[in-house]
Amino acid sequence: MSASKPPPLISRRSHAPCPVCGEISYSHTGVHPQCSVRQADAKRLEQLKRQRKARTPPAVAVSPWQRLCPRCKAVQHVRKKMCECGCNLELTRPRPPAGAAT
Ligand SMILES: [Zn+2]
Ligand SMILES: [Zn+2]
Repeated sequence: MSASKPPPLISRRSHAPCPVCGEISYSHTGVHPQCSVRQADAKRLEQLKRQRKARTPPAVAVSPWQRLCPRCKAVQHVRKKMCECGCNLELTRPRPPAGAAT
């Protein structure tokens, strides 16, 4: 009885590892189809992330009991109905009451 193992049917050396996941790919391009999709998507996701970062307004410390006046951007107490600039804060509630619009 021979102890030697038969050679693998598919030689690992003849296939380059996928540059994305590092696993051996048997596709002719050397990249798994799902990996090439992921690679193409990564660029787009990175771009979206950058866009989202650029769009976020500068962080302003606003407590739950405070809000910003939409006109002069001054921090106002939530119970305050009018800002010093004359802006009606009642009309600019951050969240409308539940069930108001159906
Ligand atoms: Zn892969
Ligand atoms: Zn104001």
